[in-house]
Amino acid sequence: MSTYLPHPGATPKCPHCDQRGFVIRPIGERAEAQACECVKTCPKCRDTGWVSTTDDLRGPKGRCDCQHVQRRMRLYAAANIPARHYNSRLANFEIDGPLQMMAVQAGMDFLTRFRPGEPTRGLVFHGNVGRGKTHLLCALVGELILEHGVSARFVEFSHLVADLKVAFERKSGAADVLEQLVGVDVLAIDELGKGRNTEFEGTVVDEVVSRRYNANTPLLGTTNYTPGVASGFANANLARPQATAPMLSDRLGERVYSRIKEMCDFVPVKGEDFRQRSTRAARRPR
Ligand SMILES: [Zn+2]
Ligand SMILES: [Zn+2]
Repeated sequence: MSTYLPHPGATPKCPHCDQRGFVIRPIGERAEAQACECVKTCPKCRDTGWVSTTDDLRGPKGRCDCQHVQRRMRLYAAANIPARHYNSRLANFEIDGPLQMMAVQAGMDFLTRFRPGEPTRGLVFHGNVGRGKTHLLCALVGELILEHGVSARFVEFSHLVADLKVAFERKSGAADVLEQLVGVDVLAIDELGKGRNTEFEGTVVDEVVSRRYNANTPLLGTTNYTPGVASGFANANLARPQATAPMLSDRLGERVYSRIKEMCDFVPVKGEDFRQRSTRAARRPR
């Protein structure tokens, strides 16, 4: 797959964009890709978007590289990455132990393995809150789009359910919402299993996961729940002994869980809770 793609109209060695022609910024609730100020009229196509692919000027034309850069920017705009993760990359993930190192490695392996249109095993990062699972997920979505030109979409589990619920209640648009989630090269679902665990949620997730399963298209995800044999306790709010804590399969149902298990490797992300750690570091006397 292609990787670094300079914009022909960007300034070489631009300190803001490294000649990519765009910068990523947090705007409102989303991370956005914006054209860098250094971009001038494209010297290859004069902003027509087309270049000759042979020496014959009347011969066949191909898309200019500047168009490929713009396509990546459009894909990034559609990816829905939250603003707080605009700068989340695999390279700046804070490694705090061998499991976290392995989680980053699993992400890098996925990027190397993945080819659009070919079946590729996805990943589900699991572990307690505050371990950086969403950072890893957003990093993968961003890198798939910006470095590899692949369409990818980030969606938080409870938002996915809420969007579809609104669409179903309006009796219009549900097919479009589903199509966006099913048609994208890589779908990344944050917080799998989080929610009220209603029948509607189960049906919606089943639909999305089944269709991706049948189309052989990869899924990435995170969850605070543990993969493994169902405990039979789906309700996270009931007090119970540790041994009967709800597992991911309890939350998603056996059918969805077993499909995800077939499609994805479960990757533990453990280590010190970095939210607590940054609070402690902030309090530490100087
Ligand atoms: Zn620039
Ligand atoms: Zn051009």
